[in-house]
This record gives sequence, C-alpha cells and structure tokens, in this order.
Amino acid sequence: MNSSSQLQSLIRTIPDFPKPGIQFRDITTLFQDPWGFKRAVDEFVAHYRYSPIDRVVAIESRGFVIGGALANHLNCGMVMARKKGKLPFHVERQEYQLEYGTDCIEIHRDAIQPGDRCLVVDDLLATGGTCEATCRLVERLNGRVVGCAFIIELPSLEGRPRLAKYDVHTLVQFEGD
Ligand code: AMP
Repeated sequence: MNSSSQLQSLIRTIPDFPKPGIQFRDITTLFQDPWGFKRAVDEFVAHYRYSPIDRVVAIESRGFVIGGALANHLNCGMVMARKKGKLPFHVERQEYQLEYGTDCIEIHRDAIQPGDRCLVVDDLLATGGTCEATCRLVERLNGRVVGCAFIIELPSLEGRPRLAKYDVHTLVQFEGD
C-alpha cells in the first residue's frame, strides 16, 4: 500500500452528511491517528521545504490544524482565514458563490504585508470556491499565492481547473464525488 492509499484509508466517509447525497470526507479520523497526521504534515513539508514561504494562510476550521503544524515546520507565520464576524480587528472580506446563496471569508488586513509569499491550506478541495476567495483576499492585500495545499481532492467537482492559475498540491484523491 502506498502512502496516499494509507492516508486515504484513514479518512472516514459519512454518507448523507450534512445533507442527503453528500459523501462527507471526515478528516478527524486521520488527525487522530498519530502516524497519519504526522505523515500528511511530513509530505507537505517535503514538498514545500525549498519554496520560500512567509505565511501559511489556513482556512477555517480544519485547515487550521494542518496550517499550524505546517507553519511551525516551515518556520513561517500562520494567518487565519475565517468565516464572517469571527476576527476582531480590521478585516478584508471576500464573498463567494455557493450552490444556493453566498458565503464569505475574512482575513485581518495587517496579517499579510505586500509581497508576502503565501501558501493557502485547507483539508479538502471540492469546487475550489473557498480557496479561490481566500487567494483573492491574499492578492487584494498585495500578497502572492505561491501554492494551495489540501490533504483531500474531489476531482469530479473541478476545483483544480478553477484554481488553474495557482500551483495546487493534494495528497489523496476520492474519485466519483
Ligand atoms: P469548496 O469551496 O467547494 O472547495 O469546499 C471546500 C470546503 O468545504 C472545505 O473547507 C471543506 O472542508 C468543505 N467540504 C466541501 N465538501 C466536502 C465533503 N464532501 N466532505 C468534507 N468537507 C467538505
């Protein structure tokens, strides 16, 4: 079994959560496995070790778990991209489209300095809407997106082509949905 299959076997699938028809890929079972969590972080560290990165920008909330560990290993700062109303200081906000309606994501304006090289991190890439909005925020603050990293990718939802202008790296792919 290769590393990707081993990581995949640690991710639990919950059918029909949070609504009928969704196959929820539950990363908590990978996080709670000592080998699995370390392996996932180590794979990202190996991939980005020689890329100059100033900030890991982690997306709420499961992205924080990965982003914190990764920023520590890469010796860079970590920035939290949060849902509306959670950050206490001046924020930059980006709306994005959901299947029904809109959502939005925020970053503290002073969290990214012009020219900062940013790695955007989340647990899962589905349609790419959340990550695209986060990348926009980084760019609006004059940061540079050097990559987007996810443990899980759902290729059928075409997040990768949506993020075509960025360098996307994922560890495990679930075909189908
Ligand atoms: P998207 O913006 O469509 O790429 O959705 C990505 C965000 O939604 C991530 O923060 C994921 O944690 C969450 N997400 C979307 N689809 C799933 C799924 N099938 N299982 C678990 N999380 C999901």
